[in-house]
Order: sequence, then structure tokens, then C-alpha cells
Amino acid sequence: MATMTAVELKPKDYKGKIDPDWCPGCGDFGLLNALQRACANLGRKPHEILCVSGIGCSSNFPGFFHSYGMHTLHGRSLAVATGAKMANPDLTVVVTGGDGDGYGIGGNHFAHTARRNVDLTYLVMNNQIYGLTTGQVSPSSDIGMKTKSTPFGNVEPPVQPIAASIVNGATIVARGFSGHGKQLVSLIEQALDHKGFAHLDVFSPCVTFNKDNTYDFFRERIKKLEETGHDPSNISLAIEKAMVWGDEIYTGLFYKTNQPALHEQEPVLEAGNMLSQDPAITKSQEERIIKRMM
Ligand code: SF4
Repeated sequence: MATMTAVELKPKDYKGKIDPDWCPGCGDFGLLNALQRACANLGRKPHEILCVSGIGCSSNFPGFFHSYGMHTLHGRSLAVATGAKMANPDLTVVVTGGDGDGYGIGGNHFAHTARRNVDLTYLVMNNQIYGLTTGQVSPSSDIGMKTKSTPFGNVEPPVQPIAASIVNGATIVARGFSGHGKQLVSLIEQALDHKGFAHLDVFSPCVTFNKDNTYDFFRERIKKLEETGHDPSNISLAIEKAMVWGDEIYTGLFYKTNQPALHEQEPVLEAGNMLSQDPAITKSQEERIIKRMM
């Protein structure tokens, strides 16, 4: 009798039909490569993954990655991804986007998705600028940064995404750098394996419009938490390390805890995945609803 052998997946198996249109050297390439490698290492098959994005350079991601994909509205990717995960908890749902999309326009969803501990892997390509619209200040731009929209220098303090997601309830909070591929792959693997909201902020330099936060800027400053003896179960220490910004900036796993994910607590899902449940409406009612939504 013939036996089935598991097919070994390679990073190239996650290559999308479209080649990225990012500028040469854009930090987003590092994250794309790392996600492809992490999925291959974990043997997560493309049809088991949904990739959801908002709007921005980095939000073109689902077109470049081979899996199910949705390119949604600006700042709304987490809301759409929450719906998809609750409808089908068997899916691995990865959300990709930038700092403007996630921390600015989608800031409300960012807070509440963490609070609800929705089982998502949220990868934020943080380049501290709006790239797609050719270089305006973003919620994570440093004070004093000169951009098209702040010719005299940015006067607004930046968001603190790592500290914010820890305080709001995310159960894995980490930071990577697209120039440090090995660490990034490891952090993505931990996020994909985790049950709950895993938020990974990734320094992803915009080589075209951000001349302040360059690859060299990060290489000179980054200290890896795993090389400092950091304890990711210590929430106070995690917040303290998250607030460090200057000559030293930390990357790595800041915080990890285990709490039930939203879909594990939802009574409607006690009867199983909604896809396998009786919808309790007739076929014609179902068709009418779909027609109204199209
Ligand atoms: Fe990347 Fe910036 Fe080019 Fe957008 S504009 S693709 S963020 S380098």
C-alpha cells in the first residue's frame, strides 16, 4: 500500500503571483522573506493561511504572498481579520500593514484587538513615515523630523506601540528589524505558534522618504533582548524596556503570557467552527443576503 509522505515546504512556495513593486532596498522585503521562511519552517500550508492588510506600501503585501488574501480599507485590517478568525478559527490569520495604517488610522482597532486577545499575528512594517503618499509625518515619527507635512520639524510625540499593546492586553509583544533576518524569522515563528494576539513591530526602513531612520541608524542602536537576559514574563520590565529610545533601542520578545483567545471563549463556537454549523437560514435567504452585500 502506498504511503503518503509530507511535502517539505520551501520559502519559494509562498511567493505570490505578483512581484513586489516596493523601491529597491525597502525594508518590507525583509519582512516578506522572513514570513515566507517562518511559514515554511513551521510547515504551515498556503491554504491554511489568510493574509489581511489595510492600505499603504506595506499593505500591498497579500499580493506578494501566496496564501488566501484580502486587501481591505485603510486602518480596518484588524477588524476584517477578527471577523475571519471568528468565522473560521482553524485559519492562521496574519495581518500585515504599516505604522500609519495600524497605529494612526487603525489605532482604535489596534487597542481593542489586543484587549480581546484575538488569535492573530499582526506584523507592522514600521518605517516612521507615510511612504505611499510620498513622505508625510506618521504617528511613529520622531519629534523634530522634517517631512513634507512638517517642514519645520515634527512637534508631536510618537506613539509607543510596544508599551501600548502590552498594556492593552496583547499576549505576545515583540519587535524586529528587517535587517536582522534570523531574529525576525524566530519572532514570527513564535507569533504564528501562539494562541492569542501576537503583535510584532518591525523596523522596516523607507529608503526613499525617511532619511533619518535608516538601516545604519538601527544597526548602530539595536540591542537584542535575548542577549541581555530579559525575562518576557515580567510585564513591568517589558514596559520599561519598551520605553527605551535613543542611543539604545531594544528588539526581541518583550512580553509573553498565556490567556484564552477570543474564539476559545465565544459561546457560539462551542458547537464548532461556524463553517461546519447549520446556518439556520434557507438557501434563498442566504442568496438574498449575499446579493445585498455585493
Ligand atoms: Fe518602501 Fe518607502 Fe518605497 Fe514605500 S516609498 S516602497 S515604504 S521605500
